[in-house]
Amino acid sequence: MTDYSVCPKCQQPSWKEMPFARYVIFLSALPVLVALCLTFIIDPLLILFVPIVLLLNIRAAKKRIRLGRCQTCFYTGPRAS
Ligand SMILES: [Zn+2]
Repeated sequence: MTDYSVCPKCQQPSWKEMPFARYVIFLSALPVLVALCLTFIIDPLLILFVPIVLLLNIRAAKKRIRLGRCQTCFYTGPRAS
């Protein structure tokens, strides 16, 4: 297993796949923020959505193609298959 593969944009061998934990945080940041805002605005019970969002994103991250980042051109996105 190599750490770096070819970038889909600039074809440089400097493509680094995002670690699993960071990918989950990346997916969860926005919905968790929205849930926290709604918790303060509408109802404290909405805080229950935060673990649900995290669980769904952990499941999604296991299934989906992970995002990566090129160290040369800083392109961020899914790896082209
Ligand atoms: Zn690149």
